[in-house]
Amino acid sequence: MYRMIYGDLTFGSKQSGRPPSTNLSLLSTIAMGASSAAFPSNSTPKPAQIWWSNAFFFTYVHLAALVGVYFYPPAAISRANLVLAFISWQISVFGITIGYHRLYSHRAFRASVGVRVALAAMGSSGFQGSIKVRCLRHRLHHRFTDDPVHDPYAATRGLLFSHMGWIFFKPTYEKMELVDREDLDNDPVVRFQHKHYVPIALSTGFIIPSLFGCLWGEPLPAFVWGGLVARILIWHCTFLVNSLAHWDGLQPYSDEDTSRGTLILAILTGGEGSHNFQHTFPHDFRSGPSILSWDPSKWIIKLLHSFGLVSGLRRARERDMNEAKSYMAHKDKFGVPPPEYVNSELDDDDEDFSSGSGFSSVDDSGTQSEEGEGDSSGYRSAGSVTSTSSTLRTRSSSSKSSQSGGKWQVWTRKDVEEYVGKKPGRCVVLIGKWVVDVTSYLGEHPAGAAILRKYSYKSGSAISKEDQSPDATWAFEGGLNNHSRAAVKNMKELRVARYHRKEGNEE
Ligand SMILES: [Zn+2]
Ligand SMILES: [Zn+2]
Repeated sequence: MYRMIYGDLTFGSKQSGRPPSTNLSLLSTIAMGASSAAFPSNSTPKPAQIWWSNAFFFTYVHLAALVGVYFYPPAAISRANLVLAFISWQISVFGITIGYHRLYSHRAFRASVGVRVALAAMGSSGFQGSIKVRCLRHRLHHRFTDDPVHDPYAATRGLLFSHMGWIFFKPTYEKMELVDREDLDNDPVVRFQHKHYVPIALSTGFIIPSLFGCLWGEPLPAFVWGGLVARILIWHCTFLVNSLAHWDGLQPYSDEDTSRGTLILAILTGGEGSHNFQHTFPHDFRSGPSILSWDPSKWIIKLLHSFGLVSGLRRARERDMNEAKSYMAHKDKFGVPPPEYVNSELDDDDEDFSSGSGFSSVDDSGTQSEEGEGDSSGYRSAGSVTSTSSTLRTRSSSSKSSQSGGKWQVWTRKDVEEYVGKKPGRCVVLIGKWVVDVTSYLGEHPAGAAILRKYSYKSGSAISKEDQSPDATWAFEGGLNNHSRAAVKNMKELRVARYHRKEGNEE
Protein backbone atom coordinates (compact mmCIF):
# COMPACT_ATOMS: atom_id res chain seq x y z
CA MET A 1 0.00 0.00 0.00
CA TYR A 2 2.78 2.34 0.91
CA ARG A 3 4.30 2.20 -2.54
CA MET A 4 0.96 2.49 -4.25
CA ILE A 5 0.10 5.73 -2.59
CA TYR A 6 3.66 6.90 -2.40
CA GLY A 7 4.67 6.02 -5.90
CA ASP A 8 8.04 4.89 -7.09
CA LEU A 9 10.97 6.73 -8.56
CA THR A 10 13.07 3.76 -9.45
CA PHE A 11 15.39 4.61 -12.29
CA GLY A 12 16.70 2.27 -14.84
CA SER A 13 20.13 2.34 -16.28
CA LYS A 14 21.74 5.73 -16.22
CA GLN A 15 22.06 7.57 -19.46
CA SER A 16 25.55 7.75 -20.76
CA GLY A 17 26.97 11.11 -21.73
CA ARG A 18 26.03 10.52 -25.31
CA PRO A 19 22.43 9.83 -26.08
CA PRO A 20 21.30 7.00 -28.27
CA SER A 21 21.26 7.70 -31.94
CA THR A 22 18.04 8.02 -33.80
CA ASN A 23 17.06 7.62 -37.38
CA LEU A 24 14.31 10.12 -36.98
CA SER A 25 14.78 13.12 -39.14
CA LEU A 26 13.10 16.41 -38.60
CA LEU A 27 11.55 16.08 -42.00
CA SER A 28 9.95 12.79 -41.14
CA THR A 29 8.64 14.28 -37.90
CA ILE A 30 7.05 17.08 -39.80
CA ALA A 31 5.78 15.21 -42.79
CA MET A 32 4.82 11.85 -41.39
CA GLY A 33 2.97 12.95 -38.35
CA ALA A 34 2.41 9.90 -36.20
CA SER A 35 5.10 9.95 -33.60
CA SER A 36 4.36 6.42 -32.48
CA ALA A 37 6.10 5.34 -35.64
CA ALA A 38 8.92 7.73 -35.11
CA PHE A 39 10.42 6.80 -31.79
CA PRO A 40 14.06 6.21 -31.17
CA SER A 41 13.23 3.15 -29.13
CA ASN A 42 12.03 0.40 -31.38
CA SER A 43 12.33 -2.17 -28.68
CA THR A 44 9.44 -3.86 -27.00
CA PRO A 45 8.95 -3.52 -23.26
CA LYS A 46 10.83 -5.94 -21.07
CA PRO A 47 8.72 -8.30 -18.99
CA ALA A 48 7.92 -6.43 -15.80
CA GLN A 49 7.51 -7.67 -12.28
CA ILE A 50 4.12 -7.51 -10.64
CA TRP A 51 3.88 -4.64 -8.22
CA TRP A 52 2.16 -6.54 -5.46
CA SER A 53 1.67 -3.72 -2.98
CA ASN A 54 0.11 -1.55 -5.66
CA ALA A 55 -2.05 -4.37 -6.95
CA PHE A 56 -3.24 -5.21 -3.44
CA PHE A 57 -4.14 -1.65 -2.47
CA PHE A 58 -5.85 -0.90 -5.76
CA THR A 59 -7.87 -4.10 -5.68
CA TYR A 60 -8.65 -3.80 -1.98
CA VAL A 61 -10.17 -0.32 -2.32
CA HIS A 62 -12.38 -1.53 -5.17
CA LEU A 63 -13.60 -4.55 -3.22
CA ALA A 64 -14.09 -2.55 -0.03
CA ALA A 65 -16.14 0.01 -1.97
CA LEU A 66 -18.32 -2.75 -3.43
CA VAL A 67 -18.94 -4.29 -0.04
CA GLY A 68 -19.55 -0.87 1.46
CA VAL A 69 -22.09 0.12 -1.17
CA TYR A 70 -23.81 -3.25 -0.70
CA PHE A 71 -24.31 -2.54 3.00
CA TYR A 72 -24.94 1.19 2.60
CA PRO A 73 -26.81 1.60 -0.69
CA PRO A 74 -27.88 5.13 -1.65
CA ALA A 75 -31.48 4.50 -0.67
CA ALA A 76 -30.53 3.47 2.87
CA ILE A 77 -28.30 6.37 3.84
CA SER A 78 -28.53 10.08 4.34
CA ARG A 79 -28.25 12.13 1.15
CA ALA A 80 -25.48 14.07 2.81
CA ASN A 81 -23.20 11.10 2.17
CA LEU A 82 -23.83 11.26 -1.56
CA VAL A 83 -23.19 14.99 -1.60
CA LEU A 84 -20.02 14.33 0.39
CA ALA A 85 -18.92 11.74 -2.18
CA PHE A 86 -19.42 14.22 -5.01
CA ILE A 87 -17.59 17.04 -3.22
CA SER A 88 -14.78 14.75 -2.10
CA TRP A 89 -14.40 13.49 -5.68
CA GLN A 90 -14.39 17.01 -7.12
CA ILE A 91 -11.84 18.23 -4.58
CA SER A 92 -9.53 15.44 -5.72
CA VAL A 93 -10.27 16.20 -9.36
CA PHE A 94 -9.29 19.86 -9.11
CA GLY A 95 -6.31 19.05 -6.93
CA ILE A 96 -5.07 16.82 -9.72
CA THR A 97 -6.04 18.92 -12.74
CA ILE A 98 -5.17 22.39 -11.46
CA GLY A 99 -2.42 21.43 -9.06
CA TYR A 100 -0.69 18.26 -10.08
CA HIS A 101 -1.24 18.68 -13.80
CA ARG A 102 -1.34 22.27 -14.96
CA LEU A 103 0.60 23.98 -12.17
CA TYR A 104 3.22 21.41 -11.28
CA SER A 105 3.61 19.15 -14.31
CA HIS A 106 3.43 21.87 -16.95
CA ARG A 107 4.19 25.10 -15.06
CA ALA A 108 1.25 26.68 -16.84
CA PHE A 109 0.98 29.39 -14.19
CA ARG A 110 2.48 30.44 -10.89
CA ALA A 111 0.66 30.23 -7.57
CA SER A 112 0.98 31.72 -4.10
CA VAL A 113 2.11 29.49 -1.27
CA GLY A 114 -1.43 29.28 0.11
CA VAL A 115 -2.80 28.06 -3.21
CA ARG A 116 0.03 25.57 -3.62
CA VAL A 117 -0.58 24.16 -0.14
CA ALA A 118 -4.31 23.83 -0.80
CA LEU A 119 -3.72 22.17 -4.18
CA ALA A 120 -1.14 19.82 -2.71
CA ALA A 121 -3.58 18.72 -0.01
CA MET A 122 -6.43 18.34 -2.50
CA GLY A 123 -4.29 16.46 -4.98
CA SER A 124 -3.00 14.12 -2.29
CA SER A 125 -6.53 12.85 -1.80
CA GLY A 126 -6.40 11.59 -5.39
CA PHE A 127 -4.05 8.80 -4.25
CA GLN A 128 -1.83 9.06 -7.32
CA GLY A 129 1.49 9.50 -5.59
CA SER A 130 3.15 12.67 -4.39
CA ILE A 131 3.35 15.73 -6.63
CA LYS A 132 6.96 14.93 -7.36
CA VAL A 133 6.34 11.33 -8.37
CA ARG A 134 3.19 12.00 -10.32
CA CYS A 135 4.57 15.02 -12.18
CA LEU A 136 7.83 13.40 -13.20
CA ARG A 137 5.89 10.42 -14.49
CA HIS A 138 3.56 12.72 -16.39
CA ARG A 139 6.45 14.66 -17.91
CA LEU A 140 7.79 11.36 -19.09
CA HIS A 141 4.43 10.66 -20.71
CA HIS A 142 4.56 13.94 -22.60
CA ARG A 143 8.12 13.47 -23.72
CA PHE A 144 7.73 9.91 -24.90
CA THR A 145 4.04 9.76 -25.72
CA ASP A 146 3.03 6.36 -27.12
CA ASP A 147 6.51 4.92 -26.80
CA PRO A 148 5.86 1.39 -25.55
CA VAL A 149 9.00 1.42 -23.45
CA HIS A 150 9.34 4.94 -22.14
CA ASP A 151 5.78 6.25 -21.91
CA PRO A 152 4.66 5.06 -18.45
CA TYR A 153 1.12 4.44 -19.67
CA ALA A 154 1.58 4.13 -23.40
CA ALA A 155 -1.69 3.91 -25.30
CA THR A 156 0.14 1.81 -27.86
CA ARG A 157 0.16 -0.99 -25.30
CA GLY A 158 -3.61 -1.22 -25.30
CA LEU A 159 -6.59 0.46 -23.71
CA LEU A 160 -6.53 -1.58 -20.51
CA PHE A 161 -2.82 -1.11 -19.95
CA SER A 162 -2.99 2.65 -20.46
CA HIS A 163 -6.03 2.89 -18.20
CA MET A 164 -4.87 0.92 -15.17
CA GLY A 165 -2.76 -2.04 -16.25
CA TRP A 166 0.43 -0.06 -15.76
CA ILE A 167 -0.38 0.30 -12.06
CA PHE A 168 0.17 -3.42 -11.55
CA PHE A 169 3.73 -3.51 -12.85
CA LYS A 170 6.92 -2.17 -11.35
CA PRO A 171 8.28 0.55 -13.60
CA THR A 172 11.91 1.26 -14.33
CA TYR A 173 11.65 4.64 -16.06
CA GLU A 174 14.93 4.42 -17.87
CA LYS A 175 14.57 7.94 -19.25
CA MET A 176 13.61 9.57 -15.97
CA GLU A 177 17.07 11.04 -15.62
CA LEU A 178 16.32 13.19 -18.63
CA VAL A 179 13.29 14.78 -17.07
CA ASP A 180 13.72 18.21 -15.56
CA ARG A 181 12.93 18.15 -11.85
CA GLU A 182 14.66 21.22 -10.52
CA ASP A 183 11.47 23.21 -10.07
CA LEU A 184 9.89 20.41 -8.09
CA ASP A 185 12.95 19.92 -5.92
CA ASN A 186 13.09 23.64 -5.20
CA ASP A 187 9.49 23.97 -4.06
CA PRO A 188 9.17 23.54 -0.26
CA VAL A 189 5.50 22.61 -0.62
CA VAL A 190 6.42 19.79 -2.99
CA ARG A 191 9.22 18.62 -0.72
CA PHE A 192 6.99 18.61 2.36
CA GLN A 193 4.16 16.84 0.58
CA HIS A 194 6.55 14.23 -0.81
CA LYS A 195 8.03 13.56 2.61
CA HIS A 196 4.70 13.26 4.40
CA TYR A 197 2.63 12.00 1.53
CA VAL A 198 1.15 8.91 3.17
CA PRO A 199 -0.41 10.57 6.22
CA ILE A 200 -1.59 13.53 4.11
CA ALA A 201 -3.24 11.24 1.56
CA LEU A 202 -4.88 9.04 4.18
CA SER A 203 -6.14 12.10 6.04
CA THR A 204 -7.55 13.95 3.06
CA GLY A 205 -8.79 10.85 1.23
CA PHE A 206 -10.31 8.79 4.03
CA ILE A 207 -10.16 10.30 7.51
CA ILE A 208 -11.57 13.77 6.83
CA PRO A 209 -14.57 12.49 4.80
CA SER A 210 -15.34 10.06 7.63
CA LEU A 211 -15.15 12.84 10.19
CA PHE A 212 -17.62 14.85 8.15
CA GLY A 213 -19.98 11.88 8.46
CA CYS A 214 -19.89 12.34 12.23
CA LEU A 215 -21.73 15.63 11.70
CA TRP A 216 -24.85 13.74 10.61
CA GLY A 217 -24.14 10.62 12.67
CA GLU A 218 -23.07 8.35 9.79
CA PRO A 219 -19.28 8.09 9.82
CA LEU A 220 -19.18 4.66 8.24
CA PRO A 221 -21.39 5.45 5.23
CA ALA A 222 -19.38 8.67 4.90
CA PHE A 223 -16.21 6.59 4.81
CA VAL A 224 -17.73 4.33 2.13
CA TRP A 225 -19.02 7.12 -0.08
CA GLY A 226 -16.80 10.08 0.69
CA GLY A 227 -13.73 7.89 1.03
CA LEU A 228 -13.83 4.65 -0.94
CA VAL A 229 -16.31 5.47 -3.72
CA ALA A 230 -14.86 8.93 -4.27
CA ARG A 231 -11.36 7.40 -4.57
CA ILE A 232 -12.57 5.06 -7.27
CA LEU A 233 -14.21 7.93 -9.12
CA ILE A 234 -11.08 10.06 -9.07
CA TRP A 235 -8.91 7.17 -10.09
CA HIS A 236 -10.90 6.05 -13.07
CA CYS A 237 -11.72 9.55 -14.26
CA THR A 238 -8.05 10.47 -14.18
CA PHE A 239 -7.07 7.21 -15.81
CA LEU A 240 -9.48 7.95 -18.64
CA VAL A 241 -7.14 10.77 -19.62
CA ASN A 242 -4.43 8.18 -20.17
CA SER A 243 -6.67 5.67 -21.88
CA LEU A 244 -9.81 7.06 -23.52
CA ALA A 245 -8.12 10.36 -24.36
CA HIS A 246 -5.55 8.41 -26.36
CA TRP A 247 -8.12 6.11 -27.88
CA ASP A 248 -11.20 7.87 -29.10
CA GLY A 249 -12.11 11.43 -30.02
CA LEU A 250 -11.07 14.29 -32.20
CA GLN A 251 -7.62 15.45 -33.18
CA PRO A 252 -8.13 19.07 -34.19
CA TYR A 253 -4.60 20.22 -33.39
CA SER A 254 -2.22 17.40 -34.15
CA ASP A 255 -1.97 13.80 -35.21
CA GLU A 256 1.62 13.45 -34.09
CA ASP A 257 0.57 11.20 -31.27
CA THR A 258 -2.56 9.33 -30.21
CA SER A 259 -3.97 12.11 -28.02
CA ARG A 260 -7.58 13.01 -28.67
CA GLY A 261 -10.40 15.00 -27.18
CA THR A 262 -13.97 14.31 -26.14
CA LEU A 263 -16.67 16.21 -24.27
CA ILE A 264 -17.52 13.32 -21.98
CA LEU A 265 -13.92 13.26 -20.82
CA ALA A 266 -14.03 16.99 -20.14
CA ILE A 267 -17.13 16.56 -17.99
CA LEU A 268 -15.63 13.69 -16.01
CA THR A 269 -12.22 15.25 -15.45
CA GLY A 270 -12.85 18.86 -14.49
CA GLY A 271 -12.13 20.04 -18.01
CA GLU A 272 -9.28 17.86 -19.22
CA GLY A 273 -11.22 16.80 -22.29
CA SER A 274 -9.17 18.50 -25.00
CA HIS A 275 -6.25 16.18 -24.57
CA ASN A 276 -5.15 16.70 -28.15
CA PHE A 277 -4.74 20.40 -27.42
CA GLN A 278 -2.98 19.54 -24.17
CA HIS A 279 -0.37 17.43 -25.93
CA THR A 280 0.12 20.02 -28.65
CA PHE A 281 0.40 22.99 -26.29
CA PRO A 282 1.16 21.46 -22.89
CA HIS A 283 2.23 24.70 -21.23
CA ASP A 284 -1.14 26.37 -21.76
CA PHE A 285 -3.13 26.81 -18.54
CA ARG A 286 -6.25 25.87 -20.46
CA SER A 287 -7.15 22.44 -21.65
CA GLY A 288 -10.00 23.81 -23.70
CA PRO A 289 -8.89 27.08 -25.30
CA SER A 290 -12.29 27.94 -26.75
CA ILE A 291 -14.82 29.91 -24.77
CA LEU A 292 -17.21 27.04 -25.50
CA SER A 293 -14.89 24.40 -24.08
CA TRP A 294 -16.04 22.74 -20.89
CA ASP A 295 -13.06 23.51 -18.69
CA PRO A 296 -13.95 24.29 -15.04
CA SER A 297 -10.26 24.03 -14.08
CA LYS A 298 -9.54 26.93 -16.42
CA TRP A 299 -12.40 28.93 -14.93
CA ILE A 300 -11.10 28.35 -11.41
CA ILE A 301 -7.58 29.38 -12.42
CA LYS A 302 -9.00 32.55 -13.95
CA LEU A 303 -10.96 33.23 -10.79
CA LEU A 304 -7.86 32.76 -8.64
CA HIS A 305 -6.06 35.07 -11.04
CA SER A 306 -8.66 37.76 -10.59
CA PHE A 307 -8.03 37.59 -6.82
CA GLY A 308 -4.29 37.84 -7.40
CA LEU A 309 -3.63 34.38 -6.00
CA VAL A 310 -2.09 33.01 -9.19
CA SER A 311 -0.08 34.75 -11.90
CA GLY A 312 1.88 34.18 -15.08
CA LEU A 313 -0.91 32.36 -16.91
CA ARG A 314 0.64 30.88 -20.04
CA ARG A 315 -1.20 30.58 -23.31
CA ALA A 316 -0.26 29.08 -26.63
CA ARG A 317 0.12 31.71 -29.30
CA GLU A 318 -3.07 32.30 -31.22
CA ARG A 319 -1.17 32.01 -34.47
CA ASP A 320 0.28 28.64 -33.50
CA MET A 321 -3.15 27.32 -32.59
CA ASN A 322 -4.64 28.54 -35.85
CA GLU A 323 -1.84 27.02 -37.86
CA ALA A 324 -2.15 23.72 -36.06
CA LYS A 325 -5.87 23.67 -36.76
CA SER A 326 -5.49 24.60 -40.40
CA TYR A 327 -2.82 21.90 -40.81
CA MET A 328 -5.20 19.30 -39.46
CA ALA A 329 -8.12 20.66 -41.46
CA HIS A 330 -6.06 20.37 -44.63
CA LYS A 331 -4.97 16.88 -43.79
CA ASP A 332 -8.50 15.80 -42.96
CA LYS A 333 -9.75 17.19 -46.25
CA PHE A 334 -7.01 16.06 -48.61
CA GLY A 335 -5.38 13.24 -46.72
CA VAL A 336 -1.94 14.82 -46.89
CA PRO A 337 -0.19 17.61 -44.98
CA PRO A 338 -0.15 21.09 -46.51
CA PRO A 339 2.69 21.39 -49.03
CA GLU A 340 4.69 23.81 -46.93
CA TYR A 341 5.07 21.15 -44.28
CA VAL A 342 6.12 18.46 -46.70
CA ASN A 343 8.86 20.51 -48.26
CA SER A 344 10.63 21.38 -45.08
CA GLU A 345 14.03 22.88 -45.47
CA LEU A 346 15.33 21.53 -42.22
CA ASP A 347 16.69 18.36 -43.67
CA ASP A 348 16.25 18.30 -47.36
CA ASP A 349 19.19 20.49 -48.14
CA ASP A 350 21.77 18.24 -46.55
CA GLU A 351 22.97 17.04 -49.87
CA ASP A 352 23.34 20.50 -51.24
CA PHE A 353 25.28 21.52 -48.22
CA SER A 354 27.78 18.73 -48.33
CA SER A 355 28.21 18.94 -52.04
CA GLY A 356 28.87 22.63 -51.86
CA SER A 357 26.22 23.37 -54.40
CA GLY A 358 24.32 25.70 -52.11
CA PHE A 359 21.12 25.46 -50.17
CA SER A 360 17.92 24.78 -51.96
CA SER A 361 14.48 25.23 -50.53
CA VAL A 362 15.53 27.49 -47.73
CA ASP A 363 12.18 28.86 -46.92
CA ASP A 364 11.59 30.90 -43.87
CA SER A 365 8.01 31.95 -43.52
CA GLY A 366 8.18 32.83 -39.86
CA THR A 367 8.85 36.03 -38.09
CA GLN A 368 11.22 36.68 -35.30
CA SER A 369 9.79 37.67 -31.98
CA GLU A 370 10.29 41.28 -31.03
CA GLU A 371 13.00 40.57 -28.53
CA GLY A 372 14.75 38.34 -30.97
CA GLU A 373 14.79 40.97 -33.64
CA GLY A 374 16.21 43.53 -31.34
CA ASP A 375 18.63 41.03 -30.07
CA SER A 376 20.19 40.28 -33.36
CA SER A 377 19.54 43.34 -35.45
CA GLY A 378 22.46 44.69 -37.33
CA TYR A 379 24.60 41.70 -36.68
CA ARG A 380 26.61 40.46 -39.54
CA SER A 381 28.83 37.50 -39.48
CA ALA A 382 32.46 38.37 -39.89
CA GLY A 383 34.56 36.09 -41.93
CA SER A 384 31.92 33.46 -42.27
CA VAL A 385 31.43 31.20 -45.19
CA THR A 386 28.60 32.86 -46.99
CA SER A 387 26.48 30.87 -49.31
CA THR A 388 26.66 32.00 -52.88
CA SER A 389 24.19 29.56 -54.20
CA SER A 390 21.78 30.92 -56.69
CA THR A 391 19.33 28.23 -55.70
CA LEU A 392 18.87 29.66 -52.25
CA ARG A 393 15.62 31.44 -51.72
CA THR A 394 13.44 32.80 -48.98
CA ARG A 395 9.88 33.99 -48.63
CA SER A 396 10.43 36.12 -45.63
CA SER A 397 10.83 39.82 -45.94
CA SER A 398 11.56 40.19 -42.23
CA SER A 399 14.59 38.06 -42.61
CA LYS A 400 17.05 37.16 -39.91
CA SER A 401 20.23 39.00 -39.32
CA SER A 402 22.31 36.45 -41.10
CA GLN A 403 20.16 36.38 -44.19
CA SER A 404 21.78 38.60 -46.67
CA GLY A 405 19.86 39.33 -49.83
CA GLY A 406 17.57 36.41 -49.07
CA LYS A 407 20.47 34.09 -48.39
CA TRP A 408 21.33 32.47 -45.16
CA GLN A 409 24.81 33.11 -44.02
CA VAL A 410 26.78 30.11 -43.02
CA TRP A 411 28.55 30.46 -39.72
CA THR A 412 31.52 28.66 -38.35
CA ARG A 413 32.19 28.15 -34.69
CA LYS A 414 34.05 31.44 -34.62
CA ASP A 415 30.98 33.26 -35.88
CA VAL A 416 28.76 31.59 -33.33
CA GLU A 417 31.26 32.47 -30.66
CA GLU A 418 31.24 36.08 -31.74
CA TYR A 419 27.45 36.21 -31.91
CA VAL A 420 27.03 34.74 -28.45
CA GLY A 421 29.64 37.04 -27.03
CA LYS A 422 27.93 40.15 -28.41
CA LYS A 423 25.26 40.17 -25.74
CA PRO A 424 25.44 38.75 -22.24
CA GLY A 425 22.76 36.18 -21.58
CA ARG A 426 22.22 35.38 -25.22
CA CYS A 427 21.17 31.77 -25.59
CA VAL A 428 22.03 30.00 -28.82
CA VAL A 429 21.48 26.34 -29.64
CA LEU A 430 22.76 24.36 -32.58
CA ILE A 431 20.18 22.11 -34.13
CA GLY A 432 21.07 20.15 -37.21
CA LYS A 433 22.63 22.64 -39.53
CA TRP A 434 21.10 25.68 -37.97
CA VAL A 435 22.17 28.25 -35.44
CA VAL A 436 19.09 29.05 -33.40
CA ASP A 437 18.84 32.04 -31.10
CA VAL A 438 16.36 31.00 -28.42
CA THR A 439 16.92 33.98 -26.12
CA SER A 440 13.47 35.37 -26.78
CA TYR A 441 11.95 31.94 -26.28
CA LEU A 442 13.45 31.21 -22.87
CA GLY A 443 10.32 32.27 -21.04
CA GLU A 444 8.04 30.35 -23.36
CA HIS A 445 9.79 27.02 -23.57
CA PRO A 446 7.36 24.48 -22.09
CA ALA A 447 10.12 22.55 -20.35
CA GLY A 448 11.65 25.71 -18.94
CA ALA A 449 14.62 27.89 -19.69
CA ALA A 450 17.13 25.75 -17.81
CA ILE A 451 17.02 22.94 -20.31
CA LEU A 452 17.63 25.37 -23.19
CA ARG A 453 20.57 26.83 -21.33
CA LYS A 454 21.90 23.36 -20.69
CA TYR A 455 22.02 22.53 -24.38
CA SER A 456 23.03 25.97 -25.53
CA TYR A 457 26.34 26.95 -27.01
CA LYS A 458 28.71 27.92 -24.25
CA SER A 459 31.30 30.46 -25.13
CA GLY A 460 34.64 28.83 -25.62
CA SER A 461 33.24 25.34 -25.75
CA ALA A 462 34.04 22.89 -28.46
CA ILE A 463 30.97 22.23 -30.51
CA SER A 464 29.97 18.64 -31.04
CA LYS A 465 32.65 17.15 -28.88
CA GLU A 466 31.16 14.27 -27.06
CA ASP A 467 32.35 15.25 -23.62
CA GLN A 468 30.56 18.57 -23.81
CA SER A 469 27.17 18.64 -25.34
CA PRO A 470 26.35 22.08 -26.64
CA ASP A 471 24.83 20.50 -29.70
CA ALA A 472 21.09 20.37 -29.18
CA THR A 473 20.28 18.25 -32.24
CA TRP A 474 19.79 15.01 -30.40
CA ALA A 475 17.76 16.61 -27.64
CA PHE A 476 15.54 18.41 -30.13
CA GLU A 477 15.00 15.50 -32.48
CA GLY A 478 13.38 13.30 -29.90
CA GLY A 479 16.19 12.22 -27.64
CA LEU A 480 15.13 14.49 -24.84
CA ASN A 481 11.73 15.42 -26.02
CA ASN A 482 9.60 14.43 -28.95
CA HIS A 483 9.03 17.94 -30.17
CA SER A 484 5.75 18.62 -31.83
CA ARG A 485 5.24 20.07 -35.27
CA ALA A 486 4.41 23.40 -33.60
CA ALA A 487 7.67 23.28 -31.68
CA VAL A 488 9.61 22.54 -34.84
CA LYS A 489 7.96 25.50 -36.44
CA ASN A 490 8.79 27.75 -33.51
CA MET A 491 12.37 26.63 -33.72
CA LYS A 492 12.52 27.44 -37.40
CA GLU A 493 11.43 30.98 -36.71
CA LEU A 494 14.32 31.54 -34.34
CA ARG A 495 17.09 30.50 -36.69
CA VAL A 496 19.74 33.10 -37.29
CA ALA A 497 22.16 31.30 -39.60
CA ARG A 498 23.24 28.05 -41.13
CA TYR A 499 25.94 26.33 -39.19
CA HIS A 500 28.90 24.95 -41.04
CA ARG A 501 29.14 21.98 -38.77
CA LYS A 502 32.04 20.23 -40.44
CA GLU A 503 34.26 23.22 -40.55
CA GLY A 504 33.22 24.22 -37.04
CA ASN A 505 34.27 20.86 -35.70
CA GLU A 506 37.57 21.09 -37.34
CA GLU A 507 38.41 24.32 -35.66
ZN1 LIG B 1 -1.64 11.99 -22.77
ZN1 LIG C 1 -0.14 16.92 -19.39
